[in-house]
Amino acid sequence: NQKRLTACRSDISRHNAQFLALFESLIPANEEKVKQKQLLTLLEKLVGKQWPESRLYLYGSCANSFGFSKSDIDVCLAMDLQDVDKSELLLKLADILQSDNLQNVQALTRARVPIVKLMDPVTGISCDICVNNVLAVENTKLLRDYAEIDVRLRQLVFIVKHWAKSRGVNQTYQGTLSSYAYVLMCIHFLQQRRPAILPCLQGMEVTYFETVGNIECSYFDRVEKLRNFGSRNGESIAQLVWAFFQYWAYCHDYANDVISVRTGSTLSKRAKDWTRRVGNDRHLICIEDPFEVSHDLGRVVDKFSIRVLREEFERAAEIMLYDPNPCVTLFEPY
Ligand code: ATP
Ligand code: MG
Repeated sequence: NQKRLTACRSDISRHNAQFLALFESLIPANEEKVKQKQLLTLLEKLVGKQWPESRLYLYGSCANSFGFSKSDIDVCLAMDLQDVDKSELLLKLADILQSDNLQNVQALTRARVPIVKLMDPVTGISCDICVNNVLAVENTKLLRDYAEIDVRLRQLVFIVKHWAKSRGVNQTYQGTLSSYAYVLMCIHFLQQRRPAILPCLQGMEVTYFETVGNIECSYFDRVEKLRNFGSRNGESIAQLVWAFFQYWAYCHDYANDVISVRTGSTLSKRAKDWTRRVGNDRHLICIEDPFEVSHDLGRVVDKFSIRVLREEFERAAEIMLYDPNPCVTLFEPY
């Protein structure tokens, strides 16, 4: 059996070309980036007229370099609210945008993260605008910086996100994980590879510093200096896809460990006091937010969905090893 496993593992790289082709097919074309910029410029013009002191930032997958072709964009309106009520501001914003030919403009003031949604008929792009979600702008930059260090992160994330969407395990309202959580799982995984493929930016000299409320966002962001970081590790993308699923199926200690991109390793649940259920937080899979360290991205997972997730990781690991055509079978709709 061991022999067969070893043979399968070394053979996995024959699927490389297919995985790379899949990756290429998922990344957005340049014209899409241009259209996104065009929409942002329009929004800046409209918002700037009303609130000259405000600023707009792209965040989420359209700015962290892990966005698929044709995805919506996430925009953050940053401004000093003082005594303005956020809901009123969003309603006002919706009013302004509505009067400029933007379509389906809706203010969702009661959502967990209140937003204005809209669709731009000129570019065909849909967009969510939130207010002062500055931490998301910061974690977007962190993710983008990691992506610049080794191209295998971007390849792995696209394949994992595509798998998660195909298998229905990228839906936080159903107890599975957000795209953001999957990216952190990929970064962690590449940090703990030996030799490591990614460094721990928050453990290095500080070259970038911002505070958001009482949270410090500081880390090494001169990533152009780290382009060779992973070169001692020659693992191919197909090997890494297999090893990623293997890691989450059989190697991660769900009972005791928290993955932590911030420290580049795992922490114990006990040390974080994430051992008991508090409110709705069950901590069945623990993913520490790199900046908001009391935040477990796995909090949405419940005792049913943890089984679904783990079975999906196992399924994927098996397919990578034994299926003749993993690049198809992995993504079969559930
Ligand atoms: P997708 O391609 O699936 O839209 P995304 O990265 O844009 O991926 P979203 O769920 O739309 O994912 O989240 C947008 C951004 O909001 C994330 O990139 C991240 O910066 C931030 N974010 C999302 N969920 C959380 C969370 N639970 N805690 C902190 N930040 C989050
Ligand atoms: Mg998004």
